[in-house]
Amino acid sequence: MMERVKRNLKRTRCFHSINLLDSSLKYANENDLSYLAFLDHLLSRECSYRDQTAIDRNLKKSNLPFLKTFDDFDYSYQHAVSKRQVAEWKTFDWLDKRENKIFMGPPGVGKTHLAVALGYVAIQKGYQVKFYTMNDLVDEMLLASYDEKYKEWLKRTAKHDLIIIDEIGYLPVKAAVASLFFQLINELYELRSVVITSNKLVQEWGSAFGDNVITSAILDRLLHHAQAVIIEGDSYRLKGKINEKSVSV
Ligand code: ADP
Ligand code: MG
Repeated sequence: MMERVKRNLKRTRCFHSINLLDSSLKYANENDLSYLAFLDHLLSRECSYRDQTAIDRNLKKSNLPFLKTFDDFDYSYQHAVSKRQVAEWKTFDWLDKRENKIFMGPPGVGKTHLAVALGYVAIQKGYQVKFYTMNDLVDEMLLASYDEKYKEWLKRTAKHDLIIIDEIGYLPVKAAVASLFFQLINELYELRSVVITSNKLVQEWGSAFGDNVITSAILDRLLHHAQAVIIEGDSYRLKGKINEKSVSV
């Protein structure tokens, strides 16, 4: 019977249950579980293994560059983001409402850290996330448009629940790229959430996109439902080094 049960678990694609069956039977015996409780125990284990596999797959596909979490974030180093604020972000109400977040500030203040930490928690909650640096995004958009596959690429990209774009504004982009970027933001508008990091305030994005008309069209859509977070202060990378340096000079 055992062999037949395992074969049928395979046929019904309950692959985890094949391995879990022995230990679940043992648990049922030891705890005197009813038939229903045993079934519930085994199916719950199957489902939680499936959820974890999906999370691992989404994490791999998300392209997050490294793992940074809110637990590693030193809230005392800056005053723009509080623990309470992060607790609110982690409810993902904003994502369900298709709102955006824009982290702005000088280098090293934790913009990418926060964006990655948000992406990581979103994946744990079952959302599909895609991380791009602006450079990689530009390459991917151009490649798709050269192959005349930009519309397809847009549709594929818009399947993610959250798109993170890191480092807008570091390098100026050409007019053709600005137009592709506008099409992306337009496609995502009120459909998906976008998290952006930038070393420039949005008022200065005109210089990055080289065209004020297209920049206002981009900002119009991005900012309509968005929270802008301006982080000020010294680079965390220099924490503890500024004083050491002045002593050694
Ligand atoms: P930015 O994107 O603003 O240039 P990063 O997020 O890349 O800065 O931060 C630079 C480094 O400093 C990273 O290793 C990051 O984890 C760390 N860091 C920045 N701010 C904090 C903070 N408040 N708490 C802990 N680590 C931080
Ligand atoms: Mg950064």
